[in-house]
Amino acid sequence: MSLAQRDAAVLWHPYTQMQTAPLPIPVVRGEGAWLIAEDGTRYLDAVASWWVNLHGHAHPHITQRVSAQLATLEHVIFAGFTHPAAVELAEGLLQILPSTQNRIFYSDNGATSVEVAIKMALQYFHNHGQPQRRTIIAFRDSYHGDTFGAMSVSARSAFTAPFAPLLFNVEFIDVPVPGREAEVMAQMASLAQRDDIAAFIFEPLVLGTAGMVMYEPESLDALLSICRRHDIFIIADEVMTGFGRTGRLFASDYLREQPDIMCLSKGLTGGTMALGVTSCSAAIYEAFLSSDRTKTFFHGHSYTANPVACAAGLASLDLLLAPESFADRQRIAAAHAQFAQELHGLPGIREVRQRGTILAVEFAPDETTSYFSRLRDEFYALAIARGVLLRPLGNIVYVLPPYCISNAELRLVYDTMLAMRELVVRAATATAPASLPEFPHD
Ligand SMILES: *Cc1c(COP(=O)(O)O)cnc(C)c1O
Repeated sequence: MSLAQRDAAVLWHPYTQMQTAPLPIPVVRGEGAWLIAEDGTRYLDAVASWWVNLHGHAHPHITQRVSAQLATLEHVIFAGFTHPAAVELAEGLLQILPSTQNRIFYSDNGATSVEVAIKMALQYFHNHGQPQRRTIIAFRDSYHGDTFGAMSVSARSAFTAPFAPLLFNVEFIDVPVPGREAEVMAQMASLAQRDDIAAFIFEPLVLGTAGMVMYEPESLDALLSICRRHDIFIIADEVMTGFGRTGRLFASDYLREQPDIMCLSKGLTGGTMALGVTSCSAAIYEAFLSSDRTKTFFHGHSYTANPVACAAGLASLDLLLAPESFADRQRIAAAHAQFAQELHGLPGIREVRQRGTILAVEFAPDETTSYFSRLRDEFYALAIARGVLLRPLGNIVYVLPPYCISNAELRLVYDTMLAMRELVVRAATATAPASLPEFPHD
């Protein structure tokens, strides 16, 4: 039996309809921006393996630090004990995080970093004698993870429908995309009047799962200053946008109004190990200091601050802060911008969005907007056949690459997207032959 067949006999994959999904591709090796399959086929990882990989696969520097840590101390309980990697990573993060951030709380992944953030904000008000402040505001199309708290503050969708009655109540506002800013400002202003609002959680500048929906720092700043005036905590979920993705180290670096709490994961270890961080301001941390033990933050995980994961985080920070990595991020952003120009005005393209190293192309036509659409599967198969890993969100195809991707490799991704456009235009021509404009590359 092949590895894929053995997998099919025993495994259950995430976000996968196991009845209809094709057999998974068995990957045996990673190298730079490439994944290498059992049969030798190479796939360009244009989505950074679900947005986690920063510096390429099996990077020698990360490998070296992780192996050294593994041979020294693999794990230790993090209550009553500490270790060098946890302290050094916290010190390193606080040096680059916005100056409002004062403490680091470790957990296991993005969803847990969000759970911790929500619990910190709610217990702050509990400890402060304002328990009525327990409502969270979130964006209607947001994604913050798949655990119950994280699902509650995320979009109500097909993904959350089976659990809808069990999700806690959240006030949703729209995303202030260009043209809708004033409307969303009014929604926030109205909610902020209430005495039960604890916090506003958001994906700064780019909503990933919503389809790489983007909005401007000025619009977010306007929302955040309303929060600030009403003592509503600002929770920036930078699980996807952190560590250089948006062209600055953090998306919050584009803002005047800085967060009280931040959620980090994904790129935190360069894509090597699962690790989550929730950072917070001194004011939040201090609200838990008391001789009254019930004010303690009673939250933890068995693997909190795992030394091997922290070592991966330290190695990734070394690479992220090297001048070559800054240059790579600028180079990728420039290449994306140029490709966006290339796509401008072409039939089959509805919109092109970009922020830093993230490029999203929204294809026409309308009937393909659902995540479950046929075109999504056709796009995916087309890319795989060309040796490129792209994971379309419905009719939206994005590139979110490891920073080591070369210009030639980027060109391969762009050409794949152009082939998707041909598919869209051909499909449209088949149904409405007379009314469509000429296809310029034919
Ligand atoms: C992926 C993601 C999460 C969840 O992280 P996991 O590690 O998958 O649990 C939370 N927030 C945002 C913005 C994300 O993109």
